[in-house]
Amino acid sequence: MEKGGNPSSVHGFGRDAAAMLRTARDRVAALAGVGADAVVFTSGATEANNAVLQAPGWARRLVSGIEHDSIMAAARHAGDVTILPVAADGMVDLAVLEHELASAPESTLVAVMAANNETGVIQPVDEIAALCRAHGARFHCDAVQAAGKLELAPIAAAADTLSLSAHKLGGPPGVGALIINDPDMGLRLIHGGGQESGLRAGTENLPGIVGFGRAGELALEDRDGLDALADLRNAMESRIREIAPATFIAGEAAPRLANTSCLAMPGVPAETQVMALDLAGIAVSAGAACSSGKVQRSHVLDAMGVASETADASIRVSLGWATQERDIDRFIAVWTDLYKRTHAVPAGTAAE
Ligand code: PLP
Repeated sequence: MEKGGNPSSVHGFGRDAAAMLRTARDRVAALAGVGADAVVFTSGATEANNAVLQAPGWARRLVSGIEHDSIMAAARHAGDVTILPVAADGMVDLAVLEHELASAPESTLVAVMAANNETGVIQPVDEIAALCRAHGARFHCDAVQAAGKLELAPIAAAADTLSLSAHKLGGPPGVGALIINDPDMGLRLIHGGGQESGLRAGTENLPGIVGFGRAGELALEDRDGLDALADLRNAMESRIREIAPATFIAGEAAPRLANTSCLAMPGVPAETQVMALDLAGIAVSAGAACSSGKVQRSHVLDAMGVASETADASIRVSLGWATQERDIDRFIAVWTDLYKRTHAVPAGTAAE
């Protein structure tokens, strides 16, 4: 932030800035396992998703029912959208995708995310890509949640375009990337100057981009911690089940990211759980991220066919790089306390 150079300037400050931009681009390209030319920096994944979904020329958009709002809303705004169902475990229904592709017009776009932000469920990206290829459709993959938690190279190799967001892997907010594997797709994000190979005009957010590059570099170095994170998450879920065997865990039967758990405390509204945990200094979310300050009903759990009373009692618990066993102990203690308070059997009514 102290270096004010503009990468497009030819003087020394500009050349320094251009060198920093190149390094960051190489790092993000390495994270995604693509060439540096494929990386277009954006203001985040929302912009990247909008750019692909709203590009002119798609005759139809086939979009899974569990996509982030930045895909859903962009697709609906653009029109010609068909929602692809998911099964109860949160995995996209490949038979329906194949059926839709069989009758799809030329210039069809399929958008299925690599891993879901609410449940962590990982989608069969290779199989989706193979179906798209077989039917001549393009495949866009929102890999925001996968970045730093799954190897991105195979996902980037399978998809035509990929969206990434720095703040999901510990980088700064307000910066992301669209990976474009095929320059002939004709995607143009913002018209103006020649930045980002002419695809996304505007002076680059260099501090953000440098932060993104460094976060990407660290994510590649830090892969070993993921197994330990999955162990912690699994232990947390087992302990919750010991206390409340009927606890619903979304996508439990499917492959999931190591850090995500979406669980329902039976009969207790998610907002009550969020407040009780917040009072104890533990930050969790209810339903979809409340971008407007209000908790909305989760379209992801709806798409999975989760009963509304269960969906309304579901919270998202995300473990971070620094999460340790004692954090899980604390979460379990607060969760158990709330569970016992809300499920106490009134005196005199317990069965002998
Ligand atoms: N896609 C997914 C799956 C996300 O989780 C998010 C952010 O929560 C986004 C897209 C939007 O990313 P950004 O905040 O960079 O616009």
